[in-house]
Amino acid sequence: MGQLREFSAVSDRHIVCPHCAAVNRVPDRRAAETARCGTCKQPLFVSAPADADPSMFERQVGRSSIPVLVDVWAPWCGPCRMMAPAFAQAAGVLEPDVRLIKLNSQDHPDVAARLGIQGIPTMLLFAGGREVGRVSGAMNASAIVSWARQRTGVSQQGAGR
Ligand code: ZN
Repeated sequence: MGQLREFSAVSDRHIVCPHCAAVNRVPDRRAAETARCGTCKQPLFVSAPADADPSMFERQVGRSSIPVLVDVWAPWCGPCRMMAPAFAQAAGVLEPDVRLIKLNSQDHPDVAARLGIQGIPTMLLFAGGREVGRVSGAMNASAIVSWARQRTGVSQQGAGR
């Protein structure tokens, strides 16, 4: 038995900075919306999906208290390019309840292979470090939002917007 561990308040959220990958603790949803990273001082949410390299991907999926929605894409993929604005639009709606990141499977084929990606675009949804949803094919913004909400139980109702 070592020293006693200090528990944070149950409502604390762990938000991984999309810029520097530092894990930030924020007290609640409202605070998350405007919070800045304690390490790099940049906003924790910018209403846009963050490009993730393998270490950022691992960190976001493994350490975030909020669900993480991943768009696996590649520059050569036409439907992926078509879907990019929709995914960015979805980020504006889903943040700060969900973290949206993009994984370039051309730059990081090892990660895509490990995830068992068969074709792109493919969206993966993670919660608590586990995959809770997967869907392939280009989708529009409202379809992305409702697909993610169905699987995370995240709703805007009564959220104060
Ligand atoms: Zn940061």
